[in-house]
Amino acid sequence: MGEKCLAVYPGVFDPPTLGHLDIIRRGLAVFDRLVVAVAVNPGKQPLWSAAERQAMLREATADLDRVSVDTYEGLTVDFVKACGARAILRGIRTTSDYDWESHLAGTNRAASGIETVFVMADGRYAYITSSLVKEVARLGGDVSAMVPPVVLEALKKRFP
Ligand code: ADP
Repeated sequence: MGEKCLAVYPGVFDPPTLGHLDIIRRGLAVFDRLVVAVAVNPGKQPLWSAAERQAMLREATADLDRVSVDTYEGLTVDFVKACGARAILRGIRTTSDYDWESHLAGTNRAASGIETVFVMADGRYAYITSSLVKEVARLGGDVSAMVPPVVLEALKKRFP
């Protein structure tokens, strides 16, 4: 007891949304410190570089002094171990998230012993996905209810 409990919140964050930020804030109610970890090579083709995604997350979490934002390559569990973290934090929106996340959490635990802690998406944000945010912004729609201001600016630059 008394020891600080650290968790890693990994993801692609292409781009970060209000749903991600809600998971970060609520994760802070459970953990003393969070490292938000931006995956460099997620296999998907991200629209922003890892450094750009990290910078957006840093700005969006600037008011949260128990949060840091890092990038990582390779296995998530290796990064989690290198941080000395106790757990992985993930968010769940839907049953399809549940299906995928249960495979991921089981694989990570079998491979490393590291537990995953889930936060259920808040009803206000549960519909938000990074891929739909990009699609709507690309087609000129209004995504201001879905992303923080720094991401709104980045989307305006990307899709003028
Ligand atoms: P990944 O491809 O690793 O799932 P994402 O950036 O899409 O990366 O998501 C990172 C984590 O955040 C995942 O656990 C995902 O389920 C969760 N998440 C994404 N969007 C939301 C949201 N709107 N509300 C709650 N959790 C979310």
